[in-house]
Amino acid sequence: MHEMSLCEGIREVIETQVAAHSITKINTVRLEIGCFASVDKHALAFAFDVVMHGSIADGAKLEIIDIPGRAMCFNCAKEVELDDRLNPCPLCGSGRLVPTGGGEIRVKDLEVV
Ligand SMILES: [Zn+2]
Repeated sequence: MHEMSLCEGIREVIETQVAAHSITKINTVRLEIGCFASVDKHALAFAFDVVMHGSIADGAKLEIIDIPGRAMCFNCAKEVELDDRLNPCPLCGSGRLVPTGGGEIRVKDLEVV
């Protein structure tokens, strides 16, 4: 399950931060997720609770910040925002687009006690 390994990666990021900053408890974990990252947010929330159980982030709230997708349009030579990777260019309707952003998943910050 994609979301499970994702949360294991998040836990590693948290553990690195905890070791570096002598943190004792984490209240909130903020994640930035690009809309091309194809993450199931319900599955992610479930996996988050399972993976964080027994860790310093046990019971922490998961906040997700949506990052819009971006793509370069070959037709108008502009970078445009897309809600869906398969959408045509919103400016000219061309389908000749290359994604340039929106596939990222990263821990934005941690709210600690
Ligand atoms: Zn275009």
